[in-house]
Amino acid sequence: MNNIKKIDMHVHTHLPGGPERLRGGTWPIPEELRKIYDDLNIEKGVEMPRLAPERSHDPITSRDAGYIAKQYSETIGWYFCYLDPRMGTNSPCDNLSYYIDFYKEQGAKGVGELQANMYIDDPRMMNLLSSCEKCNVPVTIHFGKIGEGCGIADDIGLPRLEKVLENYPKLKILGHAMTFWSEISDDVSEETRNGYPTGKIKKEGRIAALMRKYPNLYCDLSAYSGYNAISRDREYGLKFLQEFNERIFYATDISTPQKPDGPAQCMAAFLDNAVNNGELSAKAYENICRKNALALLNGEI
Ligand SMILES: [Zn+2]
Repeated sequence: MNNIKKIDMHVHTHLPGGPERLRGGTWPIPEELRKIYDDLNIEKGVEMPRLAPERSHDPITSRDAGYIAKQYSETIGWYFCYLDPRMGTNSPCDNLSYYIDFYKEQGAKGVGELQANMYIDDPRMMNLLSSCEKCNVPVTIHFGKIGEGCGIADDIGLPRLEKVLENYPKLKILGHAMTFWSEISDDVSEETRNGYPTGKIKKEGRIAALMRKYPNLYCDLSAYSGYNAISRDREYGLKFLQEFNERIFYATDISTPQKPDGPAQCMAAFLDNAVNNGELSAKAYENICRKNALALLNGEI
């Protein structure tokens, strides 16, 4: 079959002029991203602001994201706004719906990616997530580990995420990054969960169990964490994609202009090969690569 044009559910592009990372390099500018998208057969992406101070070198604000979506609409079709759980007074009597509604009015389609290094059930996070549910916006979460860089933290087995999914059944959570994706396998450990564990998946992990139990959990396939989880055991990866194809999104997390053979390329090739070889149904492929994103961004799911 002809491979369809993909929608990228998670990307970072920025206008030129900011500092480089200490190790060198910075976000791709929209023109550079367009070239990468053309190579990957991606139509458009969803711009994620990057505003948490942890591991930050050149913040991308919600306003930047909105501006880029307007000025470069052929590349960035949509954007999310960023809210930090530490902003404002963030208390239940001063909830964050005010800010979410403001950015919704301006065209934002969700909140993310959340990267503050605090537990997902910290009262300030719970208040933020409750506001997202109230405002009916999806939220993309970068899962991390306390004290190890950026990312919303949970314990092994994701018990705190389960509490949130239970408490806010209408909140759509898109899970992303290492401590989320390493839970694809039951043998994840404290040592491996914030990395890229490899090997056959002998017993499936918590993600599948949570996906079956909570229809409000979704998966963001971006970055090496997503690609590694799906490809480390091809047979299980394909089974996972097929079973949950209505709640999985192709995404890249591109955040640098040069990466000719990065995870975005590998994931795209994995999906294209899988459908062409008959290992993944055409319907599942289309959902993951494009249809789910359009449905979510158009408010249809
Ligand atoms: Zn990202």
